[in-house]
Amino acid sequence: MTKTQDYHYGEMTWPQIRSAAAQERVAVIPVATVEDHGPHLPVDTDVRLCCAACDRAVAQIPERAILIPPVIHGYSPHHMDFPGPITIGWDTFIRYVLDVCKSLVAHGFRRILIVNGHGSNTPFVDIIARLTVVETGALAAAVNYWNAPGVHEVAESLRESDKIGGMNHACEFETSIYLALRPDLVDMSKAVRELGHQPTKNYWTDLVGGDGPLVMMEHWSALSRTGVMGDPTKATAEKGERLLVAAAAGLIELVDELRNRRVAERVDHHGKG
Ligand SMILES: [Zn+2]
Repeated sequence: MTKTQDYHYGEMTWPQIRSAAAQERVAVIPVATVEDHGPHLPVDTDVRLCCAACDRAVAQIPERAILIPPVIHGYSPHHMDFPGPITIGWDTFIRYVLDVCKSLVAHGFRRILIVNGHGSNTPFVDIIARLTVVETGALAAAVNYWNAPGVHEVAESLRESDKIGGMNHACEFETSIYLALRPDLVDMSKAVRELGHQPTKNYWTDLVGGDGPLVMMEHWSALSRTGVMGDPTKATAEKGERLLVAAAAGLIELVDELRNRRVAERVDHHGKG
C-alpha cells in the first residue's frame, strides 16, 4: 500500500529526498492558476484538477516519480474582469517556476515533468522547460494534462457537448472531473451552456476538439457573459472519473518516456578546424 509520504515531496525528510533523487525519479510539478470558472465551479478548479491528475499518476509509480508541491498561481490577466482570479506577471511566473526547477536540479533530480492545468500558462511552461534544459543540462518537459496520451480519445468518446467549443473552460470536461473529486463544491443548478464567440472556420485552438493553427486570447469578459466557455450541463462524475483515469495513465507514459530518455552529449564544434 503506497503511503503519500512515499511520493509527496513535501511530506519527506531531506534524507528521503536525497534517496528519491538517487533513484532517478522524475520530479512532477503541477502548475495551474486560481481563476473564475463560471457560476457553478470554485476558483481553484485548475489547481484541483491538475493536482488530482498528477497525484493519481505518481501514486501508481512512487519508485519512478515524485510529486512536487504545486505552483498554484499563474497567468490570468485576461480574467480580471471577474472577481476571483489571482494573476502573476508572465515574467514572474517564468522566473518562479524556473527557480523551482533549478532547486530540484540542485538536489539531484535530472528529469522534470511540468504538468500544466491552465491553458494560458502554456507558452510559459514551454519556455520554462527550455530554460531549465539550457541553463542546467537536466531534462525538463512540459505538458497540459488534458493533452497527455489517450485523454483526447477518452474525452471524445464521452463527449455530449458541442464538438467545437463544448470543452473549453468550466465546461463538460472540467466540471466532470470536479464532480468526480468534490461534488459538494459544484452547484450544478447554476451550470449554464455558453459557447462564446463561435469561429466561422476551424482555425482556432480549443481545449479538446478544435486544433486549428491560430492562437489568440481576448479578455474573457468580452467572450463570455458567465465565465463559462463550453457546456457544463453535460458533465457527470462518471465522465470525470474516466477522464482522471485517462489523464493519470497518460502522465505515467510521459514520466516513463522522460525517464527512459538518454541525456544526449553536447558537442562543441568551435575547436580546431
Ligand atoms: Zn480551467
